[in-house]
Amino acid sequence: MNFNDRRLEPVWEKVRSGERLARADGLTLFETDDLLGVGRMADHVKAAREGDRVYFVINRHITPTNVCVLSCRFCDFARKKGQAGAYEHTIEDMIRMVRDGVREVHIVGGHHPEWPFEYYERLIGAIHAAHPEVQIKAFTAAEIDYLWRRWKIEPKEALTRLKAAGLRSMPGGGAEIFSARLARDLRYTGKADPDRWCEIHGIAHALGIRTNATMLYGHIETVAERVDHLLRLREQQDLSGGFLTFVPLAYQVGPAKVVARQTPPTDSLRTIAAARLILDNFPHVEAYWVVLGEDTASIALHFGADDVNGTLEDERIQHMAGAQTPAGLAREQLFRIIRDAGKVPVERDALYNVVQVWDERAGAAVPPERRGTVQA
Ligand code: SF4
Repeated sequence: MNFNDRRLEPVWEKVRSGERLARADGLTLFETDDLLGVGRMADHVKAAREGDRVYFVINRHITPTNVCVLSCRFCDFARKKGQAGAYEHTIEDMIRMVRDGVREVHIVGGHHPEWPFEYYERLIGAIHAAHPEVQIKAFTAAEIDYLWRRWKIEPKEALTRLKAAGLRSMPGGGAEIFSARLARDLRYTGKADPDRWCEIHGIAHALGIRTNATMLYGHIETVAERVDHLLRLREQQDLSGGFLTFVPLAYQVGPAKVVARQTPPTDSLRTIAAARLILDNFPHVEAYWVVLGEDTASIALHFGADDVNGTLEDERIQHMAGAQTPAGLAREQLFRIIRDAGKVPVERDALYNVVQVWDERAGAAVPPERRGTVQA
């Protein structure tokens, strides 16, 4: 591999030989002008793991409420109780949101001042009873931590009971960026700090609950803070091993306007590629089309991403912050994102069990016996 920036050559030697990247390598990935060189290395890693496969899931986002006791500076979604625009779904409403054919329900919401832990437990139990075939991915580590702060339910007890009610996995939100400086400047000190966020994911992993991890980037963070965030996630994965997917979240410039403009696609591509290279123990890195836009998500499939998330149906949090993408993409549009990149769409469930491989080159869906075997 030839690079325009010779500083990438020793990084490539490590990538090629399977040697773990150091913090200085991570900084180089973010600082170099050779974006395509970074992307080629990440694509090499992705292809070695997954060939041409790119995953998607037929899923449904449910956001039970936007009422939240906190006031994170970057958040355009939260409202105070009684404020215009505040809403609270009933459990019956939320059961009705789950259509036939949905494989994963993704549930995250505000830190409600009054809903007790039992409300969330009932919610999971009710959705599970009404739709036992649907895998429920619910509640960030920040929400689980809030349930302890508000109701003194220890995370281990909360997660054990939620799992018994039907919880299968957890999303990766609430991590923001692991930085005390940013927690102060962006007013998220009321949330689980990095130690607590990682502790809760470790507890979930020990209970057999797989989880995701996120990073909110493209605001006032530094490159070093991004690298340190990724290294902390890698360290936690070494310890507890239950992370499935890293989901980089580009900050959406909405009314809160923490910065004047959305970070450019080149920054998102670089971030996805750097994550693929640094997070050598994460199975998957996602190109979340909602925050990237469909075109950038498609290009990101050449920069190390192997997943585009899913159909969502009713994404609220990023759209209230101004995301311009449609609130839920039909399966055919997800196919287009993946096929425009020359990749093979693979429908998965919440835990990455393969449901169907859609190999256009085979002219149709690949028969079940070939599932999971498509290579570049
Ligand atoms: S980011 Fe989450 S915790 Fe913070 S104000 Fe918004 S809904 Fe509340």
